[in-house]
Amino acid sequence: MSTKFTRRDALKMSALGAGGMAMGAGLTGCPEGCPLPRFPIGEELKADEMRITFLGTSVVPRQKQECNSVFVEVGSGDSFVFDCGSGVSSKYNAMGITPARMDKVFLTHLHGDHTSDIITIYCFGPSQDRKTPLHIFGPSGDTPDMGTEAFCDNLYKLMRWHALSFSFGRTGTIGQGDGFDIVAHELPYMSVGGVAYDNPHTGVTITHFPAVHCRNGSVSYRLDWNGMSMVFSGDTKPNNYMLEMASGVDVLIHEMVVPPEVWAAKNSGLTEDDPSWPQAVAYARAVQDSSHTPQRAMGYIFSQTKPRLGVATHFQVNRDTIGPALKDIGDFHDGPVAIATDLLVINVSKDEIRQRRAEIDDWAWYAKPTVYDPATLAPPMFPSPTAQLSDELLNSCIPPELFEA
Ligand SMILES: [Zn+2]
Ligand SMILES: [Zn+2]
Repeated sequence: MSTKFTRRDALKMSALGAGGMAMGAGLTGCPEGCPLPRFPIGEELKADEMRITFLGTSVVPRQKQECNSVFVEVGSGDSFVFDCGSGVSSKYNAMGITPARMDKVFLTHLHGDHTSDIITIYCFGPSQDRKTPLHIFGPSGDTPDMGTEAFCDNLYKLMRWHALSFSFGRTGTIGQGDGFDIVAHELPYMSVGGVAYDNPHTGVTITHFPAVHCRNGSVSYRLDWNGMSMVFSGDTKPNNYMLEMASGVDVLIHEMVVPPEVWAAKNSGLTEDDPSWPQAVAYARAVQDSSHTPQRAMGYIFSQTKPRLGVATHFQVNRDTIGPALKDIGDFHDGPVAIATDLLVINVSKDEIRQRRAEIDDWAWYAKPTVYDPATLAPPMFPSPTAQLSDELLNSCIPPELFEA
């Protein structure tokens, strides 16, 4: 058990934890003084490695911590998006990850902080390099309208105008469907170890198990490949399914929340003198008790599952939130721990787990797409970019010769 921070502890708790604090560095955003080495964008993944990139790590949308998303790639070429909250699309772009590699999205549950950028992923994939359907995996609910299938059906209907408006271009692949199609994979939320994905060509298996969060219909995922594994909890109260399914996992990515008093103070700006203070704390406690994992429970879960690396996420990182969190975790667990902020990159091999941080271009455009042989692409749905505009609107356009000198 470790309750105070030595340099050795600091090195172990390397991501944004005690290492940064000991160095007196600016923690909130890293990179200034960030103790992690730099990840060069575009670095090739070795054939025997798995790479986990954090694009969003918070419940509150913040510049340096957008809402939840993790991208997992394996050396055999397969790749997966786990959750996609608001603001993460710009980070995927800046990391050079194109839509073709984001064609499988695994949703842990249907909260907005885990799903809202799916609109961007869906809508702008086909005009870039995802010329096949978007596969969305996610839990069932207690009734059909609460499940992932209904979510996908409604998403499809919601974005119909967008999809058609872009369908003057080539958005599909012959024999493999259209980029604006969605394939829903609804997973029974109470299944423990049910298979969500199993690909003999790439060797990846993804299983799911129940998460305990707000209302029925949330899951956690476990990915196994090449004798290595990763668990992504999504949002959940501390639970026994996790202890069973994450036992001995290589990387356990688990949500964690600040204590209710901290949440109430930071989220509302209220102080203890304010008449609304007890109400704000009671609400924060209700959110925690119905849905989330307190810091000490995080330590307990890591101590029981013994991952090679435990990563806490969905946690607002500030100079004054990290220290208490690491202390609470350290009361139970003395193995390697990181607290995630955006652009943390973790390479996992059988010998080593390597943490680095990417530095992105804040002004990045789209990354270089996969280029396809035009003969493999389906013809466009509409013959021209103006085919969906009425003659009346087209006749109202200013003739180009008046401005094209
Ligand atoms: Zn959440
Ligand atoms: Zn949630």
